[in-house]
Amino acid sequence: MSDCDVVVLGLGPGGEDAAGKLAESGLEVVAVDSGLVGGECPYWGCIPSKTMIRAANLLAEARRVNAMAGSASVTPDWSPLARHIREETDDWNDQVAVERLQGRGARLVRGHGRLQGRRAVEVAGELLRARRAVLIDTGTAPWVPPVPGLDELSYWTNRQAVETDVLPRSLVVLGGGAIGVELAQVFSRFGVELSVVEVAERLLSMEEPESSDLLARVLREEGVAVHCGAQITRLTSGPEIGIELEDGSKVRGEKLLVAAGRRPDLAAIGAGTIGVDEKGNSLPTDEHMRVTDGVWAIGDVTGHGAFTHMSLYQAAIAVDDILGRDRPGARYHAVPRVTFTDPEIGAVGMSEREARRRGLSVRTGYTSLAESSRGAIHRVGNAGFVKLVADDRRRVLVGATSAGPSGGEMLGLLTLAVHAEVPLEQLEAMIYAYPTFHRAIQAALDDLARGE
Ligand SMILES: Cc1cc2nc3c(=O)[nH]c(=O)nc-3n(C[C@H](O)[C@H](O)[C@H](O)COP(=O)(O)OP(=O)(O)OC[C@H]3O[C@@H](n4cnc5c(N)ncnc54)[C@H](O)[C@@H]3O)c2cc1C
Repeated sequence: MSDCDVVVLGLGPGGEDAAGKLAESGLEVVAVDSGLVGGECPYWGCIPSKTMIRAANLLAEARRVNAMAGSASVTPDWSPLARHIREETDDWNDQVAVERLQGRGARLVRGHGRLQGRRAVEVAGELLRARRAVLIDTGTAPWVPPVPGLDELSYWTNRQAVETDVLPRSLVVLGGGAIGVELAQVFSRFGVELSVVEVAERLLSMEEPESSDLLARVLREEGVAVHCGAQITRLTSGPEIGIELEDGSKVRGEKLLVAAGRRPDLAAIGAGTIGVDEKGNSLPTDEHMRVTDGVWAIGDVTGHGAFTHMSLYQAAIAVDDILGRDRPGARYHAVPRVTFTDPEIGAVGMSEREARRRGLSVRTGYTSLAESSRGAIHRVGNAGFVKLVADDRRRVLVGATSAGPSGGEMLGLLTLAVHAEVPLEQLEAMIYAYPTFHRAIQAALDDLARGE
């Protein structure tokens, strides 16, 4: 048994940062992780997947030369990219992160940790007792849908997809959420025959239907077979994996990538010992990230959005609360998220459907990017739009989507508007530089005003 001030259980981006900050503030911190310090994002998530997307986008841009600037022929090669990812992740070695964390003053314990009541964690045969706090940042793992036969297959998750040195001839992606569509487009652009199988009626089902339609159209134009509303009736393995769908269609692939969502494993961290239902999908927290007396949680496990920026945002709040510093609690009215496909789908706050469900007096504004000056100049690869969702009673935006070549970057302005509840009149009075993509926001505001 050993005592300390704080145990950080799970070192995703927020957990690592919080452990460092708490140690720097003079507390005795023990940081526990069974995997790599830094979590999913730097090794199998954001960073390598965005590197893959950067490479795939280069291929797509080169293929666009023919339509606008002469001729170019492109021969994709996965090997330099695979090498680059191996270097970027230090061959999936966290020594740099470990030294960074220890340099900030935390003690690292490797192993699977399990809560033993409110202020204790058992790991590697040692009972760690925390005088002040246990902070949980254990993240999520890929959820595997209960499809008969799936368990017996050797399928990929995001980890194998990122680690692969060799491309399959064909790939079926189970799941049309952000991770599924991003990876599908990457592999397809590298020449892999691609099918996406999504049980919901549309891709990115949590986002605006306009985003789903745009993405399905672009992926299909690039040769990806997109099956939505797809119920799997049979799954066979052999030299190839075969999937039969309820509508009679058949999908085949050399490999299967399961990207059907992610869930936390609350039983594995002993959530029951602090009175939390282990069958739930998240650890419920208050606005200061407290689960219960002496226990805080941050990141994917809290269910407020599986994003690195959420993990870091919540970490800062939890750290201040643990240190007894006053600060505003967490607010989730302006959570930004970007699906880094081409076109990028950036979104913030509520969708139109969500705003209507909440009974707001909803007004929307829409404009197509291709019709903007910059969209026309961009010409090839200019698909996209801006959609605004306003609460007409309060005269503010409550949600927005920017889809297009710079959809993620355009989101900054829209996030500020939703976050700070900037009055619509202020947004309308602003000067938008010509000919930027973000100037399309003004056209969407005009459309919103016309509807009045
Ligand atoms: C392919 C992919 C692409 C993504 N792209 C983006 C993106 O572009 N932008 C974005 O914002 N987000 C992205 N994400 C999500 C992002 O990776 C996560 O939201 C982020 O890592 C934050 O997670 P977390 O803080 O909850 O912890 P995680 O990163 O999930 O880390 C949890 C840590 O806890 C450890 N752990 C778990 N259980 C235990 C235990 N019992 N004992 C000890 N240690 C334990 C694990 O080993 C791990 O190191 C992506 C995810 C994936 C899979």
